[in-house]
Parts: sequence; C-alpha cells; structure tokens
Amino acid sequence: MLKLDGLEVSNELRTQLKVEISKWSQGSGRSPGLSVILVGDDPASEVYVRNKVKSCEQVGIESNVIKMPETSSYDDIKEKIENLNLNPKVDGILLQLPLPQGLDERKILELISPDKDPDGLTISNNGLLFCGDAKVQPCTPSGVMEILKFFKIPVQGKKAVVVGRSHIVGLPMFYLLQQANATVTLCHSKTEDLLSHTKEADIVVVAAGRPEFLGKEAFKENAVVIDVGIHRKPMGEKTKLVGDVKYDELEGWAYAATPVPKGVGPMTITMLLKNTFDLAKSHS
Ligand code: NDP
Repeated sequence: MLKLDGLEVSNELRTQLKVEISKWSQGSGRSPGLSVILVGDDPASEVYVRNKVKSCEQVGIESNVIKMPETSSYDDIKEKIENLNLNPKVDGILLQLPLPQGLDERKILELISPDKDPDGLTISNNGLLFCGDAKVQPCTPSGVMEILKFFKIPVQGKKAVVVGRSHIVGLPMFYLLQQANATVTLCHSKTEDLLSHTKEADIVVVAAGRPEFLGKEAFKENAVVIDVGIHRKPMGEKTKLVGDVKYDELEGWAYAATPVPKGVGPMTITMLLKNTFDLAKSHS
C-alpha cells in the first residue's frame, strides 16, 4: 500500500513557499502578516496556535497572537477584528475555533474581511468556492487535494465519497473533488447504509470525527483512502493519535492511504501559510 505521507508533501511545499515569500518580501519591503485571535484558554487550541506561529516563522510570515479572555463579548472581538481589517500589515486574520460557549462562531467569522480570510470560511468565500472561483480554499480540503496531486492519484472521472458534511471539511471537500471532475457522493450521519456508498468508491475521504470508525470492510480493493480524523486515544497512562480509519487494516487491501499522524494534519497548516501568502500578494 502506498503511504500518502502528508509530512513529505508539506515539507516540499513549505520549502517552495519559503523561497517565494523571501523573494516577495524583498520586492515589497514587508513580510506577509497573519494575526491569530485566540479566545479563552482551551489547551488544544493553544497548542494549535503555537504550531501555526512556529510554521509562520519557518517560511517568513510575520505572525502575532491576540489572546482574549474567555469572558470576551461579541463586541470585544468585533472591535479587534475591525482594527485588523484596517491594518495594512495584516494579510490574514485567523479566528481559532472553537470559540468558548455562548459566542456565535458563524456571526463572528463574518466580521473578517473576505480579503483577509486565510481559512476561506466567510460566506463570501464559501460562495466563491461554490462557483469554482475561490481566491483561497479551506485549508484541510485543499490540503487533501495537494496530497492527491503530489502522489499523482487520478481524480478525474473517478467515483469519490466524502464522509462528513461540515463547513470546514466535508462540504468544501465535496466541491473541490467535483471541480476536479470526480463524481462525488456526500455522506453524513443520516446516510442509510454508509458502506454501500464507501465500498463503491475509488477515493474515500473520511471526516466523520469518529475514532477508528471505518476498517477494511468499508472500502473496495485498491481504493484510495484519505483520513481527515484526528483523535487522542487513551493507551494506559499515555495517549496515541488515531484517525477515523483503521489504517493498519488497509495494508495489502487499499491502493493508498494517509496515516494519522503525518497524513492530512500537517497539510492543514501548510495550506494556511499558502493562503496567507496568496492574500498578501493580492494586497500588494
Ligand atoms: P464535525 O463534527 O463538524 O462533522 C462531522 C461530520 O461527520 C458531520 O457532517 C456528521 O454528519 C458526519 N458523521 C458523524 N457521524 C457519522 C456517521 N456515523 N456516518 C456518517 N457520517 C457521520 O467534524 P469536522 O468536519 O470539523 O472534523 C471531522 C474530523 O476531522 C474530526 O476528527 C476533526 O478532529 C478532524 N479534523 C482534522 C483536521 C486536520 O487538520 N487533520 C482539520 C479539521 C478537522 P451530520 O452532519 O449529519 O451530523
């Protein structure tokens, strides 16, 4: 089975980005800028934000983190975002999700100017994606498309199934695959007989958020399996990262699959870096 190593793709893209960003920064006299808004003290979010900051440094993007207390109101966050929308040094504004309970994510995301939305999550950018005209594409699904491209997995004309229809992963994944000329079926928790769909597919993207949910029996022989899920599974005193798919079962059955970790995960941040740079170029 071919291991679709997302870390390898990510390293290659970051090396290219670093060179391109350095050239662009010399020409424009500034670095691309990303501001991350972190509301509350969720430990997992803090780790994600630290990784984003470190990754920005790696490729030459200037980043800053705006930490806001858990008790922040809609108006407090609105004021911050509106200032960042006006700041010419800021090319991308990233709202770290999830927000603390009581804050309306959809309403707050909409405060971000679509020209400064590196996650591609504003309604305006969703609409452009729907029309096949997105300036930036949501990071996780576009990272999946990069993995397929890197490993030369044919998509055109193939049967693809996406399991999960979230606005961050499943739904944009559906659009990107159909724009690449796959014939796509979108499955979700109300789908009847899920396996009758997944077993027919040449490419299956699983983003159900359920640890080790699908094994060998869910896929046809020689399928390409992309596992977006990421979960911490308790293993005695320690924990182990697992996906939505039982990767080990696919050996000798699937044609190719992404592992967890080092599959889709590293690509999400890499696409955030790429999107921030694309926005910076559009601002110059
Ligand atoms: P959500 O919980 O928002 O969405 C899960 C989707 O899966 C929903 O559409 C749900 O259907 C569907 N679903 C749930 N159970 C089933 C089932 N039994 N059969 C079929 N469909 C089902 O999750 P996200 O999309 O945000 O994330 C999915 C996974 O990907 C998570 O594990 C998350 O941690 C991971 N993730 C990983 C990233 C990475 O960088 N690797 C980035 C983002 C997410 P319904 O709509 O009907 O409820």
